Amino acid sequence: MKVYLDNNATTRIDEKVLEAMLPYLKEDYANPSSMYDPARISAKAIEHAREQVADFLGTKDASQILFTSCATESANTAIKGVAEKYGSASKNHIITTSVEHPCVLSVYESLEKKGYKTSYIGVNENGELNIDSLLSKITPETLLLSVMNANNETGAIYPVYEIAKEAKKINKDIKVFIDGVQAAGKIPIELENSEIDYFSISGHKFHAPKGVGALYVKKGNLFEPYMLGGHQENSLRAGTQNTPYIVGLGVAAQLAKEGLTYEATEVKRLRDKLEQGILSGLKNARLNSKSKERVPNTTNIGFEYIEGELILLYLNDLGIYASSGSACTSGSLDPSHVLRAQKVPFTSLHGSIRFSLSKFTKEDEVDYAIKNTIEVIKKLAKISPYQEELKKLGL
Ligand SMILES: *Cc1c(COP(=O)(O)O)cnc(C)c1O
Repeated sequence: MKVYLDNNATTRIDEKVLEAMLPYLKEDYANPSSMYDPARISAKAIEHAREQVADFLGTKDASQILFTSCATESANTAIKGVAEKYGSASKNHIITTSVEHPCVLSVYESLEKKGYKTSYIGVNENGELNIDSLLSKITPETLLLSVMNANNETGAIYPVYEIAKEAKKINKDIKVFIDGVQAAGKIPIELENSEIDYFSISGHKFHAPKGVGALYVKKGNLFEPYMLGGHQENSLRAGTQNTPYIVGLGVAAQLAKEGLTYEATEVKRLRDKLEQGILSGLKNARLNSKSKERVPNTTNIGFEYIEGELILLYLNDLGIYASSGSACTSGSLDPSHVLRAQKVPFTSLHGSIRFSLSKFTKEDEVDYAIKNTIEVIKKLAKISPYQEELKKLGL
């Protein structure tokens, strides 16, 4: 059996998405910016996708959607573009959280090197943000605030609508960027009457292909474009549009919106079953996904006194694919910055595993994963150097 439980890293493309893309990879290949009839077919397909994405993000005006190559590009575009357009010697303070994705944290680090002042807001032991402490950091010099909608490692949801609203009461000029990648397809998104200025999504996290994303830009919130060249995407993102992938993103967005009830009920039921099954079957298992509000597909569990890389290798041999930390940071042996921020004790920090489900996850796959995870941990407990501690826990 093969059980893919790493859907926060990437997802399988939906058959319907692929089907919708194919004509634009074959016969309808014209450059959407050209003047002849076939070009109009491409341009129309892109505008239709823009409507689908706008609807998915809960906004009526599709001209607020820009297509990009990925969410990393969307984040770089928004954050650097705002800093360049609105930053000055007296407006050079930027705020974010310490649990953001590297595509935000790395940009903040690079701006810091250019002289911007940065503030990073931590989380509590449940992985929840303290909004008051975040708001207290806002000053007249603050230019930009970035908070992710949902965390990729633990699934914690942050109250981004409230944060944006309250932030602007303190400083109305502040720009708010939200990394919405892990919210998309899992919980409803409602940008229309929000105070959010920029919001990013990535196709491959909700069953579209890799290599296409979008950036919502609230009307009037211009920024210094990152990609310069032709006049595509209102001159805000130059480069010939990737028609087939944009079409795929549009269809995936529509399917994701239609599937929100299934996520909230069936995907959640299977995630809860997996989580409960593992936690009740092992005395050294500790839940890291403790936030009161969290997305329905993710759980993160720490196994005390067991090495995470070994767990993943053993699970891999049984056809179970999960991850430690995020795919973007694995490859390094440093424990997750997200779990460290919520002060997960060192005894389970190194043995923390993320399981993330999707609409394609089946009940028998979850049963197989529960049974085999328990067996793998028990096997590894026998060869752990922490025999005394494990015995105390009853393992
Ligand atoms: C995957 C991910 C990204 C990056 O998306 P890409 O499209 O792969 O660049 C950004 N933020 C979060 C929270 C993610 O999970």
